[in-house]
Amino acid sequence: MTYKITSECISCNLCQSACPTGAIKVVDNSLWIDANLCTNCVGSLYTVPQCQAGCPTCNGCVKQSTDYWESWFDAYNHVLAKLTNKQDYWENWFNLYSQKFSEQLQERQCRVWGVES
Ligand code: SF4
Ligand code: SF4
Repeated sequence: MTYKITSECISCNLCQSACPTGAIKVVDNSLWIDANLCTNCVGSLYTVPQCQAGCPTCNGCVKQSTDYWESWFDAYNHVLAKLTNKQDYWENWFNLYSQKFSEQLQERQCRVWGVES
């Protein structure tokens, strides 16, 4: 189980320079921990995970959940953000879809009622 950067991160980059394995990287302008490189600082000079220990926020860097689906969605959102270069791809998609759907519904109602939109 590795550590992960959360939305509470203020991008101070302290953890990136503190990480002994180089696991913390900048991807699409935000920090991300490579699970393949994070060792939880076990086997290093340190007795506590350096990313969490030095973080100025309370929850900018936390241990990954053991919940399978939460971890799965974290990984999915990360890959999706890389592919689309957008953190909130589905939220934007849904907002756009809702807006278009409302417009079409309104046009249809106007046509049925014979009112100009
Ligand atoms: S727990 Fe240690 S190895 Fe893992 S990201 Fe944090 S500082 Fe790097
Ligand atoms: S130390 Fe904390 S706030 Fe600073 S970049 Fe790392 S996770 Fe973000």
